[in-house]
Amino acid sequence: MAAVSVKLGDIGASWTAACRQAVSDLNVLFRRKGIQVVLAVNGSGPTISVRTDPGIIGTAVHGKTSAETDAAGKLVRADVRLPVKPTINTPAGMRDAGTGMAEVIAAHEFVHALGHAPHNSHLMAQTLNKVLGDRAAGDKLQAGGISMPPLQLSDDSVAKLKAIWG
Ligand SMILES: [Zn+2]
Repeated sequence: MAAVSVKLGDIGASWTAACRQAVSDLNVLFRRKGIQVVLAVNGSGPTISVRTDPGIIGTAVHGKTSAETDAAGKLVRADVRLPVKPTINTPAGMRDAGTGMAEVIAAHEFVHALGHAPHNSHLMAQTLNKVLGDRAAGDKLQAGGISMPPLQLSDDSVAKLKAIWG
């Protein structure tokens, strides 16, 4: 089983919580789907470095990831940048998005970092639409009728990750 470390920079309490949740929920998903990689916050192995980037607008639901891979497509190191503070529109104006929505943004970038370059559907959809919750905790991102969290990987994404990680 390959180990990959997720190193969280000074990204604030809400992003830290969202990234830890993304690591935990991705590990459950990987185990269930038989993808042989385990993420750990400040663990061992090649590192995904995470920081926020004021250059990404807060309304964005995508971060930016650059990954360096070896000849087999396995991660050497990756750099994930997240919007400083994701927001969502409400009838009463803009507010900070909930942890669940932030978790989906982080998980999407972590899967890119693991070598899943293209977009397809589910978690790795190109376009994710915000769905306003009654409370911040209920905010979701939706792609093709699938609302997350909970995180969901398409069969195609599972096959892509298995091709890299076994
Ligand atoms: Zn993407």
